Amino acid sequence: MTVTSTDSGRIVRPTSLEEAIAASTERPDARILGGGTLVVAERSLGIDIPPAYLLLSGIAELRGVTSDGATATGGAARIGAQTTLRALLDAALSPMLDVALRSLATPQIRHRATVGGNIAERRPAHTLAPCLLALDASVGSAGPEGSRRRSIRDFAAEGLGAGEILVDVALPARGGFQRFVRVAPRNGPGYAIASVAVSIDPTARSVRSGIGGSGPTALPGTAADDFLAGAVDWESGAVPAGAAEEYGRLLADACDPPTDDRASAGYRRHAIAVMGRRLIEAWNEEQQRG
Ligand SMILES: Cc1cc2nc3c(=O)[nH]c(=O)nc-3n(C[C@H](O)[C@H](O)[C@H](O)COP(=O)(O)OP(=O)(O)OC[C@H]3O[C@@H](n4cnc5c(N)ncnc54)[C@H](O)[C@@H]3O)c2cc1C
Repeated sequence: MTVTSTDSGRIVRPTSLEEAIAASTERPDARILGGGTLVVAERSLGIDIPPAYLLLSGIAELRGVTSDGATATGGAARIGAQTTLRALLDAALSPMLDVALRSLATPQIRHRATVGGNIAERRPAHTLAPCLLALDASVGSAGPEGSRRRSIRDFAAEGLGAGEILVDVALPARGGFQRFVRVAPRNGPGYAIASVAVSIDPTARSVRSGIGGSGPTALPGTAADDFLAGAVDWESGAVPAGAAEEYGRLLADACDPPTDDRASAGYRRHAIAVMGRRLIEAWNEEQQRG
């Protein structure tokens, strides 16, 4: 492990996860740095100037995507926390991730920004968490209290403990319909005002969704998912009349949206209901076309 002292603080560069855990235990005041696109911006703006940084970039075991080789059709995969968003895009794991990642910031930022940095703080406007909820991911982490793996639903609700480092995200094999949609102030890349990710796996007869920008963290649309999974005729794939509308309504019910300078709570709730309905209508149309 290298430790560099600069005029503005200490920079700790572990080369293994073990070293990183030891360093974060020893220096709880050090801010973890993944790709630094958020941390460095916050330093520049004077929002957070910690006495030390713990850089994860030298830890090879945290980088990269490994998959079972069937990724384009929804195979299982492990994504290291230090995997850049560009590398995740290149891995072509899911059509949902493809759309979501292309909407996230700019190519330059995606080249540096990491998966761990995107989800560690559970910021509601961040792009990946709704997709990971819809893909039924799990999150691995390690810290002074040991290692653990949790469902993304539990992670979204609980977050990381003190000194805990996000290690990886695991995606189970999940085929079928996978979509991400959002409303945003402009068409190009950037933070969404609200977003919905939905994955419908007809083989597993399972519906999973994630809602972004409309609560204190990304939220699972559990009641909507359970409703749709019970309403669909899985043999034919037919969606009963009114079910898409009800799905959108239940998604909106699951939200706890803020009003801020970008949109009102009412707008966000309405947008979630419309996006949810349209996604199910799109799936239904896809089914009808065969
Ligand atoms: C112009 C601009 C546009 C942006 N647009 C978007 C957008 O559309 N959508 C979006 O989601 N984000 C956006 N971002 C924010 C940011 O770039 C991304 O969220 C990015 O994924 C953060 O990753 P990072 O590796 O750079 O994080 P860092 O800046 O390194 O870290 C972010 C936070 O996560 C913590 N952290 C990092 N890695 C770990 C780990 N392994 N374990 C524990 N804690 C960790 C850090 O301590 C820090 O608190 C934008 C940023 C800018 C500057």
